[in-house]
Amino acid sequence: MENIRIELTSAPKAKPNIDPLPFGKYFSDHMFLMNYEEGKGWFDPRIVPYGPFSLDPSCMVFHYAQEIFEGLKAYRRADGSIWLFRPADNFRRMNDSARRMCIPEVDVDFCVEALKKLVAIERDWVPTQEAASLYIRPFIIATDCTVGVHASKTYIFCIILSPSGNYYPEGLDPVKIAIEDEDVRAVRGGTGFTKCGGNYAASIRAGERAAGRGYSQVLWLDGVHRKYIEEVGSMNIMFKIDGTVVTPVLQGSVLPGITRRSILEVCRDWGLSVEERLISVDEVIETAENGHMEEMWGTGTAAVVSPVGQIEYEGKSLKIGGGGIGELTQKLYDELTGIQWGTRPDTRGWTVKVCD
Ligand SMILES: *Cc1c(COP(=O)(O)O)cnc(C)c1O
Repeated sequence: MENIRIELTSAPKAKPNIDPLPFGKYFSDHMFLMNYEEGKGWFDPRIVPYGPFSLDPSCMVFHYAQEIFEGLKAYRRADGSIWLFRPADNFRRMNDSARRMCIPEVDVDFCVEALKKLVAIERDWVPTQEAASLYIRPFIIATDCTVGVHASKTYIFCIILSPSGNYYPEGLDPVKIAIEDEDVRAVRGGTGFTKCGGNYAASIRAGERAAGRGYSQVLWLDGVHRKYIEEVGSMNIMFKIDGTVVTPVLQGSVLPGITRRSILEVCRDWGLSVEERLISVDEVIETAENGHMEEMWGTGTAAVVSPVGQIEYEGKSLKIGGGGIGELTQKLYDELTGIQWGTRPDTRGWTVKVCD
């Protein structure tokens, strides 16, 4: 790949002076871009001033949603240095999404280097506020100008950066989630394992209905039997049942979270018993009722670990573990955020330094 061309802005924006920062509302001064053409590959990698795209209305992404994205964060440590968490895993997963959506793959190592360069240029945009970070959004869109269903021959790859506060401004706070038994998010053979925009568009209706009843998230069931637990809106889900950590097995409809993988690795290293298997909603309700369900939490880049205090299913509402933050949930949150912010040792080589 060619060298990255750099064009700096002559009109830097004022940094948002808000505490706590909202999530994903402000964007930094620059973005990374490269283009793709069939026969030519990815070309013209560049860091340029942040700004709008000009796209023809017939552009394929507008009509058939040939689009994928990723989400990760840059963290500022107490000594001022800036770090990423497992960034290569995000670009590897982006390539998994790309293959499913007939989008050309990217070079993982090149993308990590490009991201490091972009974040280093935007270092002053990495927040210093407690628990705030720079949210990173890489994405690829199909740009052929033709209204016909086929794989586009041209694409834009872009990375934008958003200084963002803690996902939950009140800190670690148990969420209430509603188990959805009507809409489904994904099926095996579909696109559930990818981060493609269409998955999220299709999930909004159930989310709005749940919000109307006072629930902040939706817990999805499998699309065939509407029986097995899959995941939450943008988080994987885990349970502690009789001392064992249980999470849905990955079979193509669940998004393989990097936080999920990291948490499972930490649990196994701590000597906990871990099971990746099918979990029926009946098992969840039964163990929540008889007290065998000790803890329940979501995992994802945005919130890292999010305790679940209450669930709703078929009009019935149930508290989990008394409705508070479980002991293991708290311990896992402390461990993972500790590794990310460098207050706990990174013995697995998960963190990548951007700059001092
Ligand atoms: C991004 C995402 C997750 C979490 O993945 P991480 O890599 O841990 O951030 C889980 N489920 C869905 C549907 C997602 O989009």
